[in-house]
Amino acid sequence: MAAKKRTRKVRVPFRQNRQSRRRSDDWTRQYHTDNDQLQDTQQHESVRAKGALSRKRTIRLAADDTVVADESLWRRGTVTAVHGLICYINDHEGRNWTCTVRRILRTLRIESRSPVTVGDRVWFSDHSASSDGQPVGVIERVDPRQSVLSRRDGRGRQHTICANADQLLIVTSAAQPKLKPHLIDRYLVAGHKGGLHPVVCVNKIDLTAEHEGIDPEDLLIYTQSSGPADECDPDDEAVREPITIGSVLTELRRIGYTCITTSAVTRAGLEELRAVLTGHISVLSGQSGVGKSTLLNALQPGLELRVADVSAESEKGKHTTTHARLLRLDGGGYVVDTPGIRAFDLWSVEAAELEALFPDFAAPLQHCRFKDCFHRDEEGCAVRAAVTRGAISRRRYLSYLKMFDEVAQRQP
Ligand code: GDP
Ligand code: ZN
Repeated sequence: MAAKKRTRKVRVPFRQNRQSRRRSDDWTRQYHTDNDQLQDTQQHESVRAKGALSRKRTIRLAADDTVVADESLWRRGTVTAVHGLICYINDHEGRNWTCTVRRILRTLRIESRSPVTVGDRVWFSDHSASSDGQPVGVIERVDPRQSVLSRRDGRGRQHTICANADQLLIVTSAAQPKLKPHLIDRYLVAGHKGGLHPVVCVNKIDLTAEHEGIDPEDLLIYTQSSGPADECDPDDEAVREPITIGSVLTELRRIGYTCITTSAVTRAGLEELRAVLTGHISVLSGQSGVGKSTLLNALQPGLELRVADVSAESEKGKHTTTHARLLRLDGGGYVVDTPGIRAFDLWSVEAAELEALFPDFAAPLQHCRFKDCFHRDEEGCAVRAAVTRGAISRRRYLSYLKMFDEVAQRQP
């Protein structure tokens, strides 16, 4: 352990790569060495938020001006799993590292709950030389997060699931279990609410073709009452229109959603799925049994997905750890394997914002007579008029009503 040396302060401008905005808890940064056995005692640096006018930092140099901790040697990586104080990191070459977290970041954890979480893009120092070449390191810095996904536990507390996810892969199945369009709509709403770009994947299309001998797109899911939007009565048996897999996909594509059909058995659509996932951090969602784990294992053998064994029941278990982890796909891109699927439910959606989470309502709702129109039975509702003339799908509108009632009921 090096004895503490005399240091002096120097004011230097920020480096270019430091000028992006950070979260406030990223501002204070200091190197602690005693617990990490690093030899960077000689350089201490602290950065405080002072605004754009004084974009300078103070660094402390050792008397002999040597800089032992060289940031230019830090490596870039993405956190794929966190277990206590140990983080697993995937670097840009696809190599896996086991890292601890610099103590100051751990201290900040108390304030911000999770300064290092799955999905974080980090800088870490390579300590493999001091551990027989094992890929180990220390996380030195965490990049500002583009997004944070969290879930609420039974006691209403929020838990961070992962950072920087940008896509929601909604997996459904054509059969066993059969397609549930309303459930897709709920995931779409949750995706928008969470700032994730939603992609719909209908899996098991082999089942419809094999067992029913029909084009999967023609498979009837159910019928719904037709007629003017303001007379929509889901229980009305009189006039029924068929809802098929094809009609659901057509209306979703018309809204602008990417929809793909796959089969983990015949491998149909797998390359399309891979293309959709490449370059993104995608959250995998969808009800149990639709084939999420089978699909990803087919896409990339060796992933060892554990989605299947996390049932809704075990998730409720008191001692179940529900840590998310990132799975890296060949060709780039990660999939978040998380048992916290229910996080993408509607709990955080308010009735008044629901319309904004239906992109197909965006244009018509500008023309509703009342600014605070909820598009139910108000006069001069342009959304309902759009349903009547076919510009908005009736099925989507009924989905909206159902979700609206649900969230409105919850918020007295
Ligand atoms: P998960 O709960 O969404 O992860 O679903 P699983 O991956 O555990 O799959 C549930 C069941 O569906 C398993 O028995 C799989 O073998 C089966 N399965 C998954 N994908 C397909 C598919 O594309 N076609 C057919 N026929 N079966 C599938
Ligand atoms: Zn309206």
